[in-house]
Amino acid sequence: MLPEPYPTLDDLLLMMGEAGKRLSELEACEGAAGNISVCLRWPVEPRTRFPLSEEIELPQPVPELAGAILLVSGSGRRLREIIDEPAASVGCIRVNEGGRTGSLFTSGQRRFQRVTSEFNSHLAVHADQIASSGTNFHAIVHAQPPRLTYLSHVPRYRDESHLNMRLLRWQPETIINLPEGIGFVPFRIPGSPELMEGTLESLRKHRIVVWAKHGVMARSDVSVKRAVDRIDYAETAAKYEYLNLCAGEAGEGLTADEIRAICKTLSLQQKIF
Ligand SMILES: [Zn+2]
Repeated sequence: MLPEPYPTLDDLLLMMGEAGKRLSELEACEGAAGNISVCLRWPVEPRTRFPLSEEIELPQPVPELAGAILLVSGSGRRLREIIDEPAASVGCIRVNEGGRTGSLFTSGQRRFQRVTSEFNSHLAVHADQIASSGTNFHAIVHAQPPRLTYLSHVPRYRDESHLNMRLLRWQPETIINLPEGIGFVPFRIPGSPELMEGTLESLRKHRIVVWAKHGVMARSDVSVKRAVDRIDYAETAAKYEYLNLCAGEAGEGLTADEIRAICKTLSLQQKIF
């Protein structure tokens, strides 16, 4: 939930651009991989930045988002380029009454046909989170960080409990920043209803979820960059795990007792260790 004064459209586009830049530094958005969206529920005039408009059908009805504004990266656009030319890569959708359709506002610089092909998952998670928490702001980022994704190709890391015990042992701040741990969705076809449903379910309990053999999706009700931070922490944990595998598993990591002691000192609730 964001307090007033609310960020402007330009503030939000800048944050999406900075998020894209950081994801690029993490090598998590090669080519046109990855996508970003934010959903806001305060009054915004899209035409100041996006003067063109057309009616679109939404991938599924979201009556709870009627009147909400979404900024969404365009299909085929590069996240690292949002920072230089946001209106070329981002569209603005206002959800119509009933939640079945919306107005897509774009700029003359627009260089995409449709918004991201993962829009169904973005929309479902925004609607679910906003309905349950009542937040006025919600950000979602999908990216493809290589080490987290690589580990999801190794069968034993596809067990959510094993994945978390292994990844959250390398730095004290990992459990502090991801106290609910990392969710896991088995391989599903990109853009499919099955991936959307698995993601929706997992993001009710976690702030970041691994999509097996594909990448991750993270959310935040504070900022886009906070969602990217979650990807950054999880990918750093995977980097240590990967290093350890390459080094013949010489490292022991923080023990369960050490992690429990950190959580006790900080009064942090966790169920992983
Ligand atoms: Zn992807």
